[in-house]
Amino acid sequence: MWPVTSRGGAVYQAPIFVNAAGAWADMVAAMAGVRPVGLVPKRRTAMLFDPPADQNSGNWPLVIDMDEQWYFKPDAGKLLGSPADETPIEPCDVQPEELDIAIAVDRIERMTNLKVGRIDHRWSGLRTFAEDKTVVVGFAPDAAGFFWLAGQGGYGIETSPAMATATASLIVDGKLPDRFAELGLSPADIAPDRLLG
Ligand SMILES: Cc1cc2nc3c(=O)[nH]c(=O)nc-3n(C[C@H](O)[C@H](O)[C@H](O)COP(=O)(O)OP(=O)(O)OC[C@H]3O[C@@H](n4cnc5c(N)ncnc54)[C@H](O)[C@@H]3O)c2cc1C
Repeated sequence: MWPVTSRGGAVYQAPIFVNAAGAWADMVAAMAGVRPVGLVPKRRTAMLFDPPADQNSGNWPLVIDMDEQWYFKPDAGKLLGSPADETPIEPCDVQPEELDIAIAVDRIERMTNLKVGRIDHRWSGLRTFAEDKTVVVGFAPDAAGFFWLAGQGGYGIETSPAMATATASLIVDGKLPDRFAELGLSPADIAPDRLLG
């Protein structure tokens, strides 16, 4: 990426490397000689199963216990359930564990009158967190042009429009859009510096 940037008031063209490698972001940083920020990938498991035949589950809400030990929600005619697991794991092509599926079934069946029955599909993925569970968005203090866009944890789909906007604005203008400041967010809140001690 070779944008014209105006950081610090000076307009210049410089190579920018955006590190958006998810669970691998610390490894990619290390490969580039940049100090990792201490990201921890955590496995999260999900499964799809049929709702009760006599119910219109399409308008059911997300149902989640107060301690976030399980949840389910409607998903395209099925129910998507999860044990809300957060197992720390090295970055990898993660696969679901039978035990986590069994835990999800057990918790949902014990706390509701649902019968999970046949599981249509099961999978797991990595949710990657910084120590303070806040996104890491900003230039590395120790490498010119190296930009972090990582640590989106369990909410990276919902936050992606805002974080993409923040990224473009920080790179091109050297600041967050005004409406972010109006909401009380400053670049320091999400900058990698806060994690580097
Ligand atoms: C089961 C589950 C349920 C979730 N539910 C929700 C939800 O309801 N709402 C929500 O907002 N979020 C949810 N999330 C979280 C969301 O998926 C993540 O926060 C989001 O995907 C993070 O986006 P990312 O782009 O930072 O990382 P990723 O989506 O992991 O993308 C990183 C990409 O970089 C690639 N990559 C890595 N290394 C390299 C390399 N060296 N070269 C080239 N490419 C590389 C990877 O292959 C990957 O495609 C869920 C996650 C899981 C696992």
